[in-house]
This record gives sequence, C-alpha cells and structure tokens, in this order.
Amino acid sequence: MRRSDSATGWGPMTPKKNRADFSRRVKIDVAKRSAYRCCFPDCERTTTGPSESQNDSITTGIAAHIFSAQDNGPRGSGGLSFESRQSIENAIWLCAEHASRIDKNNGMEFPASTLLSYKRIHEEKIRHERDGIAAKTGWIHSLAIDRAPIFRTPTELQFGKVTVLHGDNDSGKTALCDWLQGISDPQALSKWADPKRYGNLSFEVTYLDPVRQKLRVRVQSRDEIEYFINGEPVPFDPNPVRFVRLKDLRLNPLSDRLPPMTDLDFLSRTLSVNPALVRNMLPLVGIQGKGTVGGLRLDHLQDGSIRVWTDVHGTSPGLSLQKQLSGSERSRVLIEIAAVFARHSAKRVPTVFLLDWAAKSLDSRWMSLIVEFLSSEENPFQTIIERVTNGLGGHDMARVVSLNGNTADVTIGPSTSE
Ligand SMILES: [Zn+2]
Repeated sequence: MRRSDSATGWGPMTPKKNRADFSRRVKIDVAKRSAYRCCFPDCERTTTGPSESQNDSITTGIAAHIFSAQDNGPRGSGGLSFESRQSIENAIWLCAEHASRIDKNNGMEFPASTLLSYKRIHEEKIRHERDGIAAKTGWIHSLAIDRAPIFRTPTELQFGKVTVLHGDNDSGKTALCDWLQGISDPQALSKWADPKRYGNLSFEVTYLDPVRQKLRVRVQSRDEIEYFINGEPVPFDPNPVRFVRLKDLRLNPLSDRLPPMTDLDFLSRTLSVNPALVRNMLPLVGIQGKGTVGGLRLDHLQDGSIRVWTDVHGTSPGLSLQKQLSGSERSRVLIEIAAVFARHSAKRVPTVFLLDWAAKSLDSRWMSLIVEFLSSEENPFQTIIERVTNGLGGHDMARVVSLNGNTADVTIGPSTSE
C-alpha cells in the first residue's frame, strides 16, 4: 500500500476502488494548516515554491495517511470507517522523504499516535507563528532510563499524543509518571531519591520544543539532583513543561478516613488547583467537542457549603458530584475538568496531563471514549494514562506501552483489541 498520492504535490488523483484517498480539498487544507512545511520533527522543509516557469508554483509535499488508505496498509485501518480515513483528521503533511519513511516496515516505527503528535505540535507552532505569539509549543518524545529501580536498564519508551502505560500494580507506571514530572518539578522525584532503597536514578527525556532537546536528570539524593541539557550542566531546566495531574485522595470522598469536604474543596484538592480557579473552569467543561460531561453548576447550601451538580452522559441530568455519582462517573468529571485546565495551559506552555489513578475505575468502553476525547484536536496537550492490565480496551488512537511483570520488560505497540 502506498500513500494516497503516488505522485508528490496534489498528484493526478485517479480515485481507486477500496482506497480511502484524500480529496483535493483535504490535501490543500492539510498543506495550508502546516504552512506547506513538513510536520516531521526537525525537518520543517518547505514543500512549495516557484516552478521553472515565470508564473507558476510547484508543491512537493504529500498528504500522507495516518491510518492507512487500505485495510492492510501501514498502521492498518485503526478501526476507522472508510470516510474517517479520507478525512483531514487522518492526514499529515510531509515532505517526500518523510512520507516514505513513516511507511517503512508497515509503519511499525511510526504508530498513529506518534504521527498525531507530530501533526499537533507542528500545527500548534504554525498557529503561534500566525498569531505572532512567542509561545513555546512542546512535546515529550521519549524517556530513556539508564539507572533505576524497578526497570531493567537500559530501557527507552516513546510517547504519543495519548500514551497508555499498561501493566500490573507495581510494574512501574507511577514511577514513570513521577520521573517525567521530575523534569520540571524536583518534588516529584523526592520519593525516588533514597539511594539506600532505590539506588541512584538516571534518565534522559527527549522533548521537542519544537527543536529536539535532550534533558538528562541524575538523582543522587533528595537534595542532589543534576540536570543537563544536550550534555551541558544546568541548575534546572528553564523550558517549562506543565504537568497536570489528578491527585489520589484515596477517593472515596465519603470515606471515613477523610474529613467531609465541600465539592469545591474536593475538586480543588484533587486537581491541586485553587478553588477560585476551579470555579472559573467549571462552566468551560463540555461546552464543545467530544466530552461526555457537561452542565457543571454550583449551588450554595444553607449551611454555607457549596455543592456541584453535573450532567454525565448515561445518567439522569443534575446529579450531585459527591453524593450521587458513582466512582467512575466522578472520574469522568475530574478528567474533563483537568482537561479544561490542560487545554488552557497548552495555549502557552507545553502541557502533559498525567492520568494515573482516575482511569482505574473506568471500564473499557469508557476508556475508549476518554482516549478518543483526549486524542481529539480540541485537546492540544499530551496525555499519559496509567492502566492496570485487565480492562485495557481497544485504543487505536493511543500508543500503548506494556510493562510486563516486576522486571518491567517493555513492549511497545498499538493495541487493537482487549
Ligand atoms: Zn520532512
């Protein structure tokens, strides 16, 4: 299988049966969204310019398929319909060299989630350039672990727009989230800074800002953490990556172990966000796109506390957050509020949403919806989801990293089914 264009540029498109080729309109739009530059990291090659003649131009880029135009092509169909595979969401603009490279070995090296991340980061960068905003866009590409507890070393993981870390309890999922967060928040490393218990920790995070940068982190102890950018020692990484992480309050909020909290306090503590900011975000939940939660509203009770009511798909509207929603429904509300925060943050700062415990209570069907929601263009941030082995669900849009057993062998691949 080849990409939709056998020729470069717009190509003389002769529609073939059973091939989800892009229309000329889709090709032009995806090219324009990329400002006619290749989306492959570090390439950025211009794919349009003057032709030999005085009054004409030539375009050499290619609208490549993320999921294949044919069922058995690179990266497969991803379970998408024929029409979805013809849509602009399934197209990425690349130079001829990179369009050919992503399809080698049936696309194994470049799963759909990786291509989606390339496309998103490039388009965000173009959006900023067009708006004249000097904001940084960024993306975490990989984590290479040289010395660490839990993991067999060396190990390298790559991340997509949405990545599912999939494995048993104690297989290292939380450790990976802590270490990633440690690139901008040393506090997240403190648990791992006990040399007697864990030995020394050393890893390297490659991110695109959008130029490829390598940040090495060496943790000797709680107050000895060294950072190196591209081999040069630095006191800390000045490139901000904001991590949005839901905090585990051992959440049954009704649990005896926790003092009763108003809904606003509960949300504030779970999201680690000031209650005033939580209030500002509530009306923005579910007003567009693929979310499954909406209609969040506050009610001041007579005893002075504040209750939050919400509409969750599949339930009757207007249920109370803590009193009436089940654990999984509450998780969905939290995830979508956190997504509002991450979405807003990602307009200016590279942002990663770390979703650890809240995904535990979601069944496969809801996981698939959440993955689809977090993969969509309305959410221009990166997400890493922890998931225990059972109930993985099919996540064609996500990169799935499986952590096997206590030694945490790493196998990487897109998952197609349970
Ligand atoms: Zn290129």
